[in-house]
Amino acid sequence: MSRNKNLTVDLKDFQSASGVPESVIPELNDLIRNSEYFRYMGEHSETAKLEREFAKIVGTKYALALNSCSSAIFISLKCFQIDVCSNVLMPAFTFAAVPSAIVHAGGKPVLVEVGDNYRVDLEDFKSKMDKDIKAVLISHMRGHTSDMKFISELCIERKTPLIEDAAHSLGATLSGKNVGTYGDVGCYSFQSYKLINGGEGGMLVTNDEELYAKAVIMSGAYESSWKKHPFESKYFEKYQNKIPVYNMRMNNVSALLIRTQLDSIQERAKIGRDKVNELTEYLTVSPFIDFPKKLNEEVQAPDSLQFNLVGFSEIEACKLLDKVREEGVSLNIFGLQEGNARAFWNWEFIDNIPSLPKTEKMLKKACDIRVPLNFESKQIKKVAQVILQSIDFVKSNN
Ligand SMILES: *Cc1c(COP(=O)(O)O)cnc(C)c1O
Repeated sequence: MSRNKNLTVDLKDFQSASGVPESVIPELNDLIRNSEYFRYMGEHSETAKLEREFAKIVGTKYALALNSCSSAIFISLKCFQIDVCSNVLMPAFTFAAVPSAIVHAGGKPVLVEVGDNYRVDLEDFKSKMDKDIKAVLISHMRGHTSDMKFISELCIERKTPLIEDAAHSLGATLSGKNVGTYGDVGCYSFQSYKLINGGEGGMLVTNDEELYAKAVIMSGAYESSWKKHPFESKYFEKYQNKIPVYNMRMNNVSALLIRTQLDSIQERAKIGRDKVNELTEYLTVSPFIDFPKKLNEEVQAPDSLQFNLVGFSEIEACKLLDKVREEGVSLNIFGLQEGNARAFWNWEFIDNIPSLPKTEKMLKKACDIRVPLNFESKQIKKVAQVILQSIDFVKSNN
């Protein structure tokens, strides 16, 4: 008898991503035929149109499209003159691309503890926010928003630039304000596993005219290419040829893919919340699972669920992972998976990785599971059954 007889989920189901609606395929075909893929070809490029539309959606004065969110973070740091020996404060729980952007910019990541609720530990943040900190980079990992009111007030008080990595927060709000617009700069991602799938892509948003001009030049606006960007700035001429061009522009094909999905941000965010809630409700019955509280005023736009195991040893947790994966459910624990890019001790490119007991403890019990927007209710139910039964299996075999 096959154990997989009633299986309605498979590991590969967890990798699916949203795409463009069928109705825009003719428009894409036109773009492909006319060969104007480069953003500075033609008059009103798809990339420039996307920037105008995106700024309107998030409510900032300026938006600059780039080839990734990591590039947006890198360029933001460069705008604040992050250079050799500049300390940049960042949460110890995020994706490896974030400390990498700091290192790439020439800075030194200073890691802040993250609590059981996946958010920046405010006490540790405050204690590490000394005069050597040249910028703060807050990453809302897996869309869990840190307390941006507290953080931005402290940054303003200390006159320290604040960059928000909102890669996974498009469609999310905190007190009704879009996540990604609390800092001096916000960075979004359109990599395929984010809310909007552009293959690759990023967006830098800001209300600061001078920062915008610098970022445009650094993105690769050589000669007078800034004239082809949709927002004006009196600073373009000041910086032309004075700061390096890093060539991190977005191309028009990605821009069109992204533009045609902008209308669905709210809808996708709602579907994500519903699906994640559905799975949460099934799992919440287990005494071995803890769901950390959200911030009261937070509305997320999730496509994955995180929860902490309670009363599990590391050996039991590993057994649980093996068991659920055998049943086709792609569950991970950030700190127990070999080489996981979200476990800070794997960021070996950083000098002197500090000891961060709080974050380490969290990472070794925090489960991570994607909930793709196309999951049906019966698949979610099956996923929950597999997890609950596997917990029973591990706990009754001791
Ligand atoms: C995906 C992600 C990034 C990197 O985005 P790219 O567009 O792939 O560079 C950075 N931070 C977080 C929190 C992410 O989820």
